[in-house]
Amino acid sequence: MRHAEPIALSNLDLFSRLYPRLRNTVDPAETFADEIRAAEAEYIEQCERQNFGYDTRVTLPSGLLKTQMVSLYESHLRGGSGREVYDLIIEGEHGTNKCCYCNIRAADTADHYKEKAEHPLLAVCPRNLIPSCSKCNEKQKGVREKFNPFYDDLGGALWLRCTLEWARHKRGMGPDTIPGMRFSVIPGFLPDTALVGRVSATFKAANLSKRWATEYADVIGRIHRKASKLSRQHDRKFIVDEMIQYDWQPPNSPYQVLLKTVRDSDWLRDLKG
Ligand SMILES: [Zn+2]
Repeated sequence: MRHAEPIALSNLDLFSRLYPRLRNTVDPAETFADEIRAAEAEYIEQCERQNFGYDTRVTLPSGLLKTQMVSLYESHLRGGSGREVYDLIIEGEHGTNKCCYCNIRAADTADHYKEKAEHPLLAVCPRNLIPSCSKCNEKQKGVREKFNPFYDDLGGALWLRCTLEWARHKRGMGPDTIPGMRFSVIPGFLPDTALVGRVSATFKAANLSKRWATEYADVIGRIHRKASKLSRQHDRKFIVDEMIQYDWQPPNSPYQVLLKTVRDSDWLRDLKG
């Protein structure tokens, strides 16, 4: 899970740009400016107060339909003339944004933090559009109090742990199988229990333990191949340490957490040479 900055466009900027594209619209975009601004102001205020699960008090003005707001997003931002802005939102200026939830896959969609069905006035609000991969986007549906990359920041906090699972050896022989791995959120990793709750809810909904285990299966396979040729514990640790340094990633990333777990594990020590 990573912190991100929204693009420097307001809800009203995007609405004003996209609304005239709707066919059969009679009112000019300015007619609805107050509500579009108010919905964004409410979102910012509630997020800054860490009240991410709030219900909106800003109602759709008469003359503006929920279906129009959904269409603004689907047909005119994601799928139409606004695509350039959409790409900037999800991919960032350099086109390399990773998904804000799993931080592994490339961001190729925008997840509505406040769902457009319940908060149609935020359908094209940049601060409500979270760069995410399609898998995470699909899995975060319906999670009300989840990690918000624009307001939450884990910094360097060590929030993740990894455990290895393997068949224990028989008759004094070491394990000769590649272990399975399970990731989990460290309970109470920060004093801010609400943030810990959001991280846990997002982690669980995105099924990150299983997805990361699949993602890194080849890493542990590689260690197994190399380490099983070495008999000394010191040499085995050394190859993992080399990987830790060579493929540098933040200490709280799943890759680094996995490598450190493997380096200090009984599995590596007892591995059948
Ligand atoms: Zn993702």
